[in-house]
Amino acid sequence: MYPAAFDYHAPSTVREALDLLGKYKDDAKLLAGGHSLLPAMKLRLSRPAHLVDLRKVSGLTGIKEEGGAIVIGAMTTHRAIETSSVVTGKCPVLAEAAAMVGDPMVRNMGTIGGSLAHADPAADYPACVIALNAEIVCEGAKGKRTIKIDDFFKGLLTTAVGPDEIVTEIRIPAAGNLGQSYKKFPHPASRFAVVGVAAVLTLDGGKVSKASVGVTGAGTHAVRAKGTEAALAGKAADAASIQAAADRAAEGVDVQADLQGSVEYKTHLVKVFARRAIEAAAAKK
Ligand SMILES: Cc1cc2nc3c(=O)[nH]c(=O)nc-3n(C[C@H](O)[C@H](O)[C@H](O)COP(=O)(O)OP(=O)(O)OC[C@H]3O[C@@H](n4cnc5c(N)ncnc54)[C@H](O)[C@@H]3O)c2cc1C
Repeated sequence: MYPAAFDYHAPSTVREALDLLGKYKDDAKLLAGGHSLLPAMKLRLSRPAHLVDLRKVSGLTGIKEEGGAIVIGAMTTHRAIETSSVVTGKCPVLAEAAAMVGDPMVRNMGTIGGSLAHADPAADYPACVIALNAEIVCEGAKGKRTIKIDDFFKGLLTTAVGPDEIVTEIRIPAAGNLGQSYKKFPHPASRFAVVGVAAVLTLDGGKVSKASVGVTGAGTHAVRAKGTEAALAGKAADAASIQAAADRAAEGVDVQADLQGSVEYKTHLVKVFARRAIEAAAAKK
């Protein structure tokens, strides 16, 4: 099906894009890679009268290290993240997840800002940015603000980003001594995560001094696996500790039954993929 008719705008600065959002308010939608928005428009689940395309806006793409953080522009594609030497070197879990997103066309068009702003419950990045303790920078009419990742995902397809704001960058603290991994059970057709778990471990001499674990796919939105993190902290990264910690991975997840499985099945998957992600993260250090 074709989308309903809309007017197309191609601003060249964040300020111009914000002015368009301010002018058309609820009738406007930002367009990034279009790989979530356009399917929704074709199904008439979304009918914006004005599309504000961010692809010609300067300053929204690229990956750099700045002030102790890895800074990723919101319009950076999944493919650029997958192949970035900065990401593969400093926060490899994000490159690992990017490589698993959809297919080559989705990875060449879709953006990290679009994925996080859309907050699909089965998207891959949300688990990783939680595990990496990222911050999301937004810009609105009143200026910039930074949202801590634990305050970012609010519910089904809902984030802390206001309708009059633009996500401009993702900031990831650059830390050493980390073992990182993302493991997912992909939907066989779309490759979206039926369940996905990202683990970032700080390891000192075989002991986990800090664990950071994010879960996506199972609930209405990605969450931090606080029980798993608490169970791992201070423990040896051995099979028994990892299994005990993984068994707590579904605590705090509002597991939803859907076409992919029952609550019991998806809860089981969360625990299995938590164990696999933690084992892989521990082995990578
Ligand atoms: C066949 C297929 C398979 C896929 N498989 C996967 C998968 O395996 N894993 C996965 O994680 N994803 C998957 N996706 C989704 C894909 O990653 C999308 O690229 C992503 O969800 C949205 O990014 P986008 O840049 O395309 O955003 P768009 O579709 O352009 O926008 C999505 C939403 O975010 C808003 N938005 C966009 N950019 C910003 C911004 N900078 N600030 C504020 N709001 C913004 C838009 O207004 C819109 O509401 C798949 C998509 C398809 C079509």
